[in-house]
Amino acid sequence: TDITELLLSRIRDVADYPEPGVVFKDITPLLADPAAFTALTGALAEVAEHTGATKVVGLEARGFILGAPVALSAGLGFIPVRKAGKLPGATLSQAYDLEYGSAEIEVHAEDLTAGDRVLVVDDVLATGGTAEASLELIRRAGAQVAGLAVLMELGFLGGRARLEPALAGAPLRAL
Ligand code: 5GP
Repeated sequence: TDITELLLSRIRDVADYPEPGVVFKDITPLLADPAAFTALTGALAEVAEHTGATKVVGLEARGFILGAPVALSAGLGFIPVRKAGKLPGATLSQAYDLEYGSAEIEVHAEDLTAGDRVLVVDDVLATGGTAEASLELIRRAGAQVAGLAVLMELGFLGGRARLEPALAGAPLRAL
């Protein structure tokens, strides 16, 4: 469709970043184009509305850039899920494995409660490890997962299949 073409035209492939053999999808050209940025956040806000979300979680860091305007245009609160050690209040933490080593993400415990339906927003779904950990955090906080919405899914990495158990039937929408 037209919006898919517009979004794709504003994503830059960067070879050998952050390491040799990896092609990084750079979304900064899209962010710099207000027509494309508006189209993207509008489409993600529609997902928020369709899924009946009551809150939007953005994953550090590009999920903040996209998630905040999505939350505002859907009329919902925005909750940041941050890398460990950045949030000042009482947090819930979730560790997850990387190719080498591990990482940990956190959310303020009081930001998510029973009765919340949470849409997770990020730019790129790669292996699914980050998204999977965020879904775990949301459930541990007692909230429900409304879905996961991303600009782009790198299908060859198998993130969608990996996320099936954690999504438990909630939709994964990749624009
Ligand atoms: P995963 O945990 O799914 O392997 O990696 C997803 C996370 O890494 C997301 O937060 C995403 O922002 C980042 N990421 C991984 N690969 C890329 C990429 O090619 N482009 C961008 N923009 N982000 C990526």
